[in-house]
Amino acid sequence: MAQVTQAFLAPGRIRLPAMPPLSLYVHFPWCVRKCPYCDFNSHEWKGEGDFPEDAYLDALRADLESSLPLVWGRRIHSVFIGGGTPSLLSARGLDRLLSDIRALLPVDADAEITLEANPGTFEADKFRQFRASGVNRLSVGIQSFNDRHLKSLGRIHDSAQARRALDVAAQVFDNFNMDLMFALPGQSLDECKHDVEMAMSYGSPHLSLYHLTLEPNTYFAKYPPPLPDEDTSADMQDWIHARAIEAGFERYEVSAYAKPHRRSRHNLNYWQFGDYLGVGAGAHGKLSFPERIIRQIRYKHPTTYIEHALKQNAVQEEHEVGTSDLPFEFMLNALRLSEGFPVHRFIERTGLTMNSIEAPLREAEARGLITRDHQTIAPTPLGQQFLNDLQALFLKA
Ligand code: SF4
Repeated sequence: MAQVTQAFLAPGRIRLPAMPPLSLYVHFPWCVRKCPYCDFNSHEWKGEGDFPEDAYLDALRADLESSLPLVWGRRIHSVFIGGGTPSLLSARGLDRLLSDIRALLPVDADAEITLEANPGTFEADKFRQFRASGVNRLSVGIQSFNDRHLKSLGRIHDSAQARRALDVAAQVFDNFNMDLMFALPGQSLDECKHDVEMAMSYGSPHLSLYHLTLEPNTYFAKYPPPLPDEDTSADMQDWIHARAIEAGFERYEVSAYAKPHRRSRHNLNYWQFGDYLGVGAGAHGKLSFPERIIRQIRYKHPTTYIEHALKQNAVQEEHEVGTSDLPFEFMLNALRLSEGFPVHRFIERTGLTMNSIEAPLREAEARGLITRDHQTIAPTPLGQQFLNDLQALFLKA
């Protein structure tokens, strides 16, 4: 690793004026059952008894230890434990994980520490212990309150469990997010409205509202369910947007709505092209060095990951982001934000000059996809609607 670190510190093709904020992502790869629309690295635990919690925690610790030289001296400003279903961890396991993280990395005292949780795994006592261990934000995968739709999504919970989970979330955490999906198989506009109203009734300060998409290599891609037509799903989108604004949320990213001061700091760091160390099976990471940016991917299968991580070798793929790829990678994230980005952030986070993207910026402006002045660049409503086209202008800029 020392040699690798030396190589990352060698002269490169860019020069970053400062290191961006650093977050930590921890992936937990198991779920009770695989949902038919899911393309995350989640595996149904099919072994005997419970999943190998201790072995996985040992692997995560080893992975963190071998990553230390790459983030030496840098503080962690947010932690996100995602999956999979990390709320399957025992209270003792989660406590050990957070203790290991704090023992190995300097975590800010006021760091946002989020845990993803699924209804069906909610026990009030366990969640109180999660809170006592330091989790200060919960992200609850509700998806819908309608039993028929939950069934069609292959979720293990029903609407009663969803409501119970939110009662616990609201009791134990003042900061929690709710994931909800719309344009579900057979869903009407009224059913979508009912889900969103129900979600808002729990007072969550953050809502993530996703359009169901059929991702490649999922069961739904192979056997597509009957989905609402484009007009209906566009009506749902418009209604959700208007209703959320009326209820005091701001849409600060394509799918993310937050009450004032309740944006997800961890996700904002991704969208602002910050750095993140990603540990755990299949986790992705992005790390900056003074003259280069690298991306890493850990071994994907949990068993393979555990084996490799315990040998201090969890990273399966690692590459330096090419200079010509940086503008697109930056825009892929930054243009998701409604308010866009300050010009200096592009320079600070990519090490490139604004001149290097002047041609695509001019084209985006001429097509009405962005607005810009000498301080800020932001997508227009048209740019938000045709975000993929806008981002594609920066391919090999
Ligand atoms: S619970 Fe979430 S991570 Fe697990 S299979 Fe379903 S969608 Fe994927």
